[in-house]
Amino acid sequence: MSIGFETGVSVAGTLGVIRHDWTREEVRALFALPFPELMFEAQRIHRLHFDPREVQISTLLSIKTGGCPEDCAYCPQSVHYDTGVAAAKLMDLGDVLAQARAAKASGASRFCMGAAWRSPKDRDVEQVCAMVAGVKALGLETCATLGMLTALQARRLKDAGLDYYNHNIDTSPEYYGEIITTRTYRDRLDTLGHVRDAGIHVCCGGIVGMGEAPEDRVGMIATLASLPVHPESVPINMLVRVEGTPAAARDGIDPLEFVRTIAVARITMPASVVRLSAGREDMSEETQALCFLAGANSIFYGPKLLTTPNPEPDRDRRLLDRLGMVPME
Ligand code: SF4
Repeated sequence: MSIGFETGVSVAGTLGVIRHDWTREEVRALFALPFPELMFEAQRIHRLHFDPREVQISTLLSIKTGGCPEDCAYCPQSVHYDTGVAAAKLMDLGDVLAQARAAKASGASRFCMGAAWRSPKDRDVEQVCAMVAGVKALGLETCATLGMLTALQARRLKDAGLDYYNHNIDTSPEYYGEIITTRTYRDRLDTLGHVRDAGIHVCCGGIVGMGEAPEDRVGMIATLASLPVHPESVPINMLVRVEGTPAAARDGIDPLEFVRTIAVARITMPASVVRLSAGREDMSEETQALCFLAGANSIFYGPKLLTTPNPEPDRDRRLLDRLGMVPME
């Protein structure tokens, strides 16, 4: 156990021990650490589990866009909001594989396929299984985000070769009702349980800058860090404000508070890959560099994240070069 410099705040369990009993009080205390102290702890822990120069690179493709019946307050693909996103059917297998080949050629090691469904029908899952098998055969890791799954659907995807399933808890249990009313926090945790039971790695994180209070960021990280097994991948997203969505009108957060959220995720989930996820397009390169120092070690590569913009790959390559960082093999 180590003690925060001159703060008396315990940043318990930081000798690389992986804990699942983080209390809100402990997580709140981490957020409250002086910035240099928090960054030092995050870097120290990061180096116990990862090479700090390495960044895992994923590419995300929207395989079925828009028309989603859910009402997630941040999402331009919901039918509840007028955002100008045109709905499109599930992509053809050949088109998906062509995009996966291009992603691999650009240096991606994981290919994520996202579909705007509340929950897929079994026949949808079969089509996605064919995509998973095809992408896997290209030598890429596979990830999918398709909404709520049954236990059987999760097993089917595992059999097809799915490595990761993304299903974010989004925010704290208390703030969840302000973000989504068409499903519950419990629904979310149930799907995560099915995914974990099927033997698929879990990708699960949340979004900040949606008008939540600091305590909601504490609640979100404490929930993730107290799961029986930490998600192997933890995406931390800065809200991309899309006109027409309710969350776009809510208060954002200071970029340094975003960096703190990354650092607390790193400290509490030492062996997880923490992804600096959506929101990079509007983030300065200096903020992104601070996120890497805070323990982020994954990014999405490619000009688009589902329906919202992302930095051009060339710009990302230049940033990683300037920082002396390299793609994780
Ligand atoms: S985040 Fe996913 S579930 Fe929510 S509205 Fe968008 S596509 Fe639907």
